[in-house]
Amino acid sequence: MNRIHIVSNRLPFSINLKDDQIDLIPSVGGLATGMRSVYKEYNGKWIGWPGLPSDDIDDGLADRIEKKLFEEDCISVHLSKREIELYYDGFSNRTIWPLFHYFAQYIDYDPELWEAFVNVNKKFADKALETLEEGDTIWIHDYQLLLVPEMIKSKKPGVTIGFFLHIPFPSFEVLRILPWRKELIQGMLGADLIGFHTYDYQRHFFSSVRRLMGYEISFNQIQIEDRIIIVDAFPMGIDYDKFKKAASDIFQKPLQEKSKLHRELEKYFLLSPDRKLILSIDRLDYSKGIPNRLKAFAKFLKDYPEFVGKVTLIMLAVPSRGTVEHYINLKKEVEELVGNVNGQFGNINYTPVWYFYRSMPFESLIELYSSCDVALVTPVRDGMNLVAKEYVASRTNRTGVIILSEMAGVAKEMGEALIINPNNINEIADSIKQALTMPLDEQRERMIFLQDRIKRYDVFKWSSEFVKSLSRMENIQNSLH
Ligand code: UDP
Repeated sequence: MNRIHIVSNRLPFSINLKDDQIDLIPSVGGLATGMRSVYKEYNGKWIGWPGLPSDDIDDGLADRIEKKLFEEDCISVHLSKREIELYYDGFSNRTIWPLFHYFAQYIDYDPELWEAFVNVNKKFADKALETLEEGDTIWIHDYQLLLVPEMIKSKKPGVTIGFFLHIPFPSFEVLRILPWRKELIQGMLGADLIGFHTYDYQRHFFSSVRRLMGYEISFNQIQIEDRIIIVDAFPMGIDYDKFKKAASDIFQKPLQEKSKLHRELEKYFLLSPDRKLILSIDRLDYSKGIPNRLKAFAKFLKDYPEFVGKVTLIMLAVPSRGTVEHYINLKKEVEELVGNVNGQFGNINYTPVWYFYRSMPFESLIELYSSCDVALVTPVRDGMNLVAKEYVASRTNRTGVIILSEMAGVAKEMGEALIINPNNINEIADSIKQALTMPLDEQRERMIFLQDRIKRYDVFKWSSEFVKSLSRMENIQNSLH
């Protein structure tokens, strides 16, 4: 196979400027981990925004950053503050994000945002076109770049193009609300291979293609004139072994090397061994169902008072998109609810919800995953939800229970979790009770299946399966022309 390039909104490094020095800090997220092996192995480039607005850096510094990034085979797309505001905070996160997560009431229909989205997508496409040669392959990522596949295909039809959507694809009845729905579909159809996390998203996409464009679909193929487009489900995984190893390592550490958080967690259990911890981790996003989760925890404490004083919910809410109005309101709502639960059920010795509004380093996440008896994952919509997978991978003693929303893509791979409807507060409250009283044998039985499955389809398998399909597409393309 020829070169494979990657295009995503962000490059897999953030830039740290100190005095005269430029440091590149590698990202540790799932996408960066999965893609790093791909573009390195196939001698490609990674094209994306380096994370600094171009108006903040002078030309000399920009050149030096460019050179430093190029040593890592990265090519930057320069975006001004205004472009980020309109394309990223704007159309991507105020229009597409709520639309694709079924929050129709939050959608911003401003044509100025759309215009910026088209222009910035063109910037990404043009940057990629400078690098691409006929016969190369390119893998484009996510909802910020929905128009890029078509922009590349129309200029260089001999390039094999893959596109992966990391968020849900909504039902046609929701997508049709958007004035620019047809343009989005057309943009995606520039790709030769289109991947989603689940088969349901794939079906929704097909129905939009049929209804908006009138194209025929047979099995998982769309035929357009002399082109064939393959659409498939590739559920994204995690670096399973990294989580498993980190979790087993923390138990080997001598006491003096343990973190403050870890010692606090151990102290919590020492005070009374029948105490339990429930874990909740997400970005503070309205799609994550955080208010309902808090309401359900309060209902649980009310319905099952024997657990008051014995169960604590650790809630980590990672700051996200803090300039968007709905996120500011959500933060207020969540803080108020945390206050209500603590005020209603707490006392001097007992705080029912430990709330953290910040991000935590990897080691602390592992400490939380491995110390908590239950993971409460209740998004109202979620493309996949990697937190659920990370919890499973970190359970080295094979106990622990996941309460999981049926609206998360990951639910398709986790039949052994306690599946709930995130709008059913009573059901969540009862599931908390069920999880906390589940016999250890049953927990292990469920966890063994979950671990086997999540380990097998990890992030490396995910990316290699996609690359395999891209290579098949390349052969199909060659045979057609
Ligand atoms: N995460 C993190 N720092 C934190 C909390 C979470 O890096 O303080 C990570 C977490 O390990 C997971 C990701 O953020 O890999 C969240 O991914 P998920 O698919 O659950 O949700 P998303 O934020 O992508 O919607």
